[in-house]
Amino acid sequence: AKARGDGGQQRYVAGMESRSAERTRRDAELRRALADEQFVLHYQPVVALPGGDLAGVEALVRWQHPERGLLAPGEFIAAAEDTGLIVPLGRWVLRAAVRQAAAWRAGLGAGAPRTVSVNASPQQLQNPEFAAEVAAALDEAGLPPTCLTLEITESTALGGGATWTTLAALRELGVRVALDDFGTGASTLSLLVDCPVDQVKLDRSFVPGPGRDAIARAVLQLTQAMGVEAVAEGVETAEQAELLTAMGYRRAQGYHFARPAPAEDLFAHRVG
Ligand code: C2E
Ligand code: CA
Ligand code: CA
Ligand code: CA
Repeated sequence: AKARGDGGQQRYVAGMESRSAERTRRDAELRRALADEQFVLHYQPVVALPGGDLAGVEALVRWQHPERGLLAPGEFIAAAEDTGLIVPLGRWVLRAAVRQAAAWRAGLGAGAPRTVSVNASPQQLQNPEFAAEVAAALDEAGLPPTCLTLEITESTALGGGATWTTLAALRELGVRVALDDFGTGASTLSLLVDCPVDQVKLDRSFVPGPGRDAIARAVLQLTQAMGVEAVAEGVETAEQAELLTAMGYRRAQGYHFARPAPAEDLFAHRVG
């Protein structure tokens, strides 16, 4: 807002105050939600191509808001990152997902998802305690580190320093690291060399269509050359799944296969 004379200046200041008041209110609401356990995890299958057999699941957080209903991460993750609350929220997500994965292994045996993928924010990776926290969560739940994949985005991977030390420690432990939303950033190619990962998730904006497959092909070739697993995200139609399979993709995720769902709905027919 521009200040135009005294009246304008006053409006500008009032606007600033209300924005910071709004931020404080949101922060308090998120803190209360965490304390009251209003967050829940939904899980979306990652499948094998061809065939669509279950390969793993990705944990996706939701906020069961007492008045506004079930909120998607787009409505609160940015605010949690602004206020730093993403660190305790991310800790909760990690522990809950790892516990759930261990419960599936115990209850479903060979039918259990082999990996659980958890999204991690830049601030979590910058925390020097993070690798130890992950190790403790796995140990407590009794889940082998190779069953956990941490998904980071390019902005996290560009963190350098403490982030790279943490990523190296996690991979040393056996935890897998995935580069999420691949292809949407600017420095993607060199990043794969500087910050080694185990998996690359092709962003859903590059899911192929007829005559529109150059990036999906290039990313697959790149990952194959580097010995990294490629996962195609946001697969919504049988045609897309067929194109990806023909190209050589071996992992996919998307509404065509399954939508994210609460743990109890995902394997309801096999557990309990
Ligand atoms: P993401 O990690 O790229 O997760 C995939 C998103 O795409 C999910 O949205 C999922 O529901 C959606 N999706 C899956 N298949 C399809 C499809 O076929 N078509 C379309 N159009 N969308 C599909 P969601 O659950 O709303 O999550 C949005 C983002 O929020 C995630 O994007 C991730 O960046 C972030 N997020 C989710 N959970 C967490 C978390 O626990 N921690 C952090 N830091 N971020 C999270
Ligand atoms: Ca993800
Ligand atoms: Ca993604
Ligand atoms: Ca994302």
